Amino acid sequence: MLQYNIPLLITNDGAALSYVCVSVLPDGTITEIASGFREDAVSLKGVVIPGFVNTHCHLELSHLKNEIRPNAGGMKGFIEQLLSARFQADEAAQINSMHNADREMWEEGIVAVGDISNFSRSNSVKTKSKIYYHTFIELLGLNPSFANAIVAKGLALQQEFLNGSMSTASLTPHAPYSCPTELLNLIFSNINVGDPLSIHMQESLDELQFCKDKSGPLVDFFKANKISFEGFIPFGEESPLQKLLPLFPKNKLQLVHNTYTKVKCIHKHFPSIPFEVLVKAATVNGAAFLGMESVFGKIKVGLKPGLVLLENVNIHQPQFHDHVKCKRIQ
Ligand SMILES: [Zn+2]
Repeated sequence: MLQYNIPLLITNDGAALSYVCVSVLPDGTITEIASGFREDAVSLKGVVIPGFVNTHCHLELSHLKNEIRPNAGGMKGFIEQLLSARFQADEAAQINSMHNADREMWEEGIVAVGDISNFSRSNSVKTKSKIYYHTFIELLGLNPSFANAIVAKGLALQQEFLNGSMSTASLTPHAPYSCPTELLNLIFSNINVGDPLSIHMQESLDELQFCKDKSGPLVDFFKANKISFEGFIPFGEESPLQKLLPLFPKNKLQLVHNTYTKVKCIHKHFPSIPFEVLVKAATVNGAAFLGMESVFGKIKVGLKPGLVLLENVNIHQPQFHDHVKCKRIQ
């Protein structure tokens, strides 16, 4: 049994608690939250919050860290760089990069991850990880006549992940421009009610232009790479969101934009958002999205949320400023 004296505890389960002692089993299960400090407990300086939940990750692209130049040719430039760099590293190097990224996430206090996968390569890393993973089997293909084959392949990949690890896996569409209605409907008929969905939505002007009237840099890219896009029916004046949302089932849905939504970044631009709201966004909201709120997201007796210490924080007026350091303590 481990015990920690904590000056300020954000539980996400009622109001923040000051000067408490939290008892934890070696496996991470919270057994007691008592008021007042105890003499034999480890005293921490700072604010303790539940472990983070990262609901959108691309673990299998870990080897591309620092390999993609930002702002180089819009969405088209990004996809070109991604495709040319993606398959250059050999399998062992890719797996090594994934292990490093997985360890980094764990050390930074991340307890659960929603991970977009196109291949099974990340499976061995996830199986050995201390992090809980939900794998989104991401499907795409502009040609409607390939929809059946794409979904069949996706279901086989889903099975590989389900066989290989303790984690969960479900199908999800990639983006409005890469999934015709036939493919979307087939994906939706192959998911369960509780499965979350994650779609890259309106990430760039290139994408919006292509969706509107099938023109722009993405057309050049598809032609250059011999990707058939003839079957794609443009959306006209309707935005991808307006056009597609009515087709979506009532599953939990995450729309991924190109904003890099770290809590520090949000705090910088929206300082009026309360600290505890940001903590919720980075922890319990993600846990609920992944259907794991009975394990993660709240510091509560019986749960295994992970404990993250935020150092360099004024406990009387906590804020996510640039000097805050996150340290996993459990
Ligand atoms: Zn993504």
